[in-house]
Amino acid sequence: MQHSLLLSEYKPTSQLVVERRSLSGPKFPVVDTHTHFGPMAFGQHYQHAYQLDVAVAAFRSLGVKHVINADTIWGEPLRQLLQFLEPYQEFFTTFGSVETALLDDPQFAQITRRTMEAGKAMGMRGLKFWKDISLGQTDAQGRSIPIDDQRLHPIWEGAAELNLPVLIHIADPAAFFAPIDVHNERYEELQQHPDWSFADSRYFRFAELMEQQERLLANHPRTTFIVAHMGSYAENLGRVSQWLERYPNLYVDLAARINELGRQPYTARTFFAKHRDRILFGTDANACYQEHMVYYEFLETKNEYIPYSTAAVPNQGRWQIYGLGLDDDILRRVYYENAETLLGPLG
Ligand SMILES: [Zn+2]
Repeated sequence: MQHSLLLSEYKPTSQLVVERRSLSGPKFPVVDTHTHFGPMAFGQHYQHAYQLDVAVAAFRSLGVKHVINADTIWGEPLRQLLQFLEPYQEFFTTFGSVETALLDDPQFAQITRRTMEAGKAMGMRGLKFWKDISLGQTDAQGRSIPIDDQRLHPIWEGAAELNLPVLIHIADPAAFFAPIDVHNERYEELQQHPDWSFADSRYFRFAELMEQQERLLANHPRTTFIVAHMGSYAENLGRVSQWLERYPNLYVDLAARINELGRQPYTARTFFAKHRDRILFGTDANACYQEHMVYYEFLETKNEYIPYSTAAVPNQGRWQIYGLGLDDDILRRVYYENAETLLGPLG
């Protein structure tokens, strides 16, 4: 009898023999609505972290005609980022942010409004917020900040008045809120990155975040929200579908969630057909890292049991995915038409 294997040592080779259609690129031009070219991905010295012409060429070679570059910056750093990207301005739409750490300042509403107006005047076309608002930041009393907190209202109302869509990352995979134990389906990933776990009572529970998210959508019907990562809840498309029906101001992006979508291909296919006008193609790529080909394979083919990433061991749960084989009408909308409905012609 052999010794037991450690999970980390286990790398099974699939013996499945089925046809796998290969693609050379996307069937239609693509707008990637969720990318990072600035400090969020590369820190303050991003301008030296990569070569802009090489990065743009890499995206273009993958069939991407335009990207939304999202960053949680404002003021001078935003001006510098826009200036850095200027040589390729036809390729970039940039979303910036406002300083949520000031929310207890009595002048918060006015400061926020000025920041948004100044950003828009510089060329910012939307707002980007990260999960750290509700999963990290605390207010002057040391309390966590629900994303539907009254104090944040000036942001959402200002965004509507200034016609700035809001790309917002609210929660993380549901498994990141569960204990890191024998039952956790993202065990290996959380073992490697224990700081990604929110299984601690000082954080909001996943269910609480979803209730806050729903109230945010309900309270600000004039504001367009792109809730990143499949509306925060790719594990439960039934719930996301209800939100999309109830809140016409909601859009979702696919970014970093094909692992979830591709393990429920029947449910996902129905979801895409039903909500074809509200799903945006996004990947969470950055200037140095792109995995677009697997997204195209997932959306366009009916290939079975395919890896959702290039990692040796699947890095977002130990499973494989199944392609959706979407029709051209859905592909066109998801690849670029929905993004252009929100932002006008791109690239
Ligand atoms: Zn992102």
